[in-house]
Amino acid sequence: MNPAFAGFFLKEKRNMLSMVEYVHERMHTYDNLEIGVDFTMGNGHDTKSLIECCKEVYSFDIQEEALKRTKELVGDKAHLIRDSHENFDHYVDTFDIGIFNLGYLPEGDHNITTTLDITQRTLIKAVEHMKKVIFITCYIGHPQGKEEALWIDNYVSDLDTHTYNVSSFKMMNKKNAPYVIEIERK
Ligand code: SAM
Repeated sequence: MNPAFAGFFLKEKRNMLSMVEYVHERMHTYDNLEIGVDFTMGNGHDTKSLIECCKEVYSFDIQEEALKRTKELVGDKAHLIRDSHENFDHYVDTFDIGIFNLGYLPEGDHNITTTLDITQRTLIKAVEHMKKVIFITCYIGHPQGKEEALWIDNYVSDLDTHTYNVSSFKMMNKKNAPYVIEIERK
């Protein structure tokens, strides 16, 4: 068993995980990850976590500021690419694990966010190229994010059950709280 996964069970007591912690814990339960893709690099925390469990990591953002911050965090341990994530297949073909952390760059320009049309095109293509799992964190606290999340909920609900498992992790008693969707290829 992956040691990180063992730790997950062995800890005597712990508080409920944040969405980011949940994704990072879950990703360590997958073995033999060759290629990871961070579709929304931001401050680089997801990229860093991917580096811990993948042999090679590709990370995308449209903002120079995101590349600067992530480079400070991970150095040369990942391919940091300034391009829209919809072009991911120009750099990498199939991948084992992908992460979408939607919305805007924390402590950055809140007007630059992921957008519905690009997220739609990218996610549909990513699901075809994904070999093991994709995690999506949806933020419904702002109108753009709500629109994205509504579409994603419908899209993943229709994925073929013979090929994919789809689950969700969400706070049930907190209005407009972000939530995680996990899409696993069977
Ligand atoms: N994963 C990040 C972390 O660990 O800190 C947080 C990501 S942040 C919530 C969302 C990021 O998506 C922003 O940095 C934003 O610039 C980026 N983004 C928005 N549209 C994008 C696109 N079309 N392609 C790639 N990145 C995009």
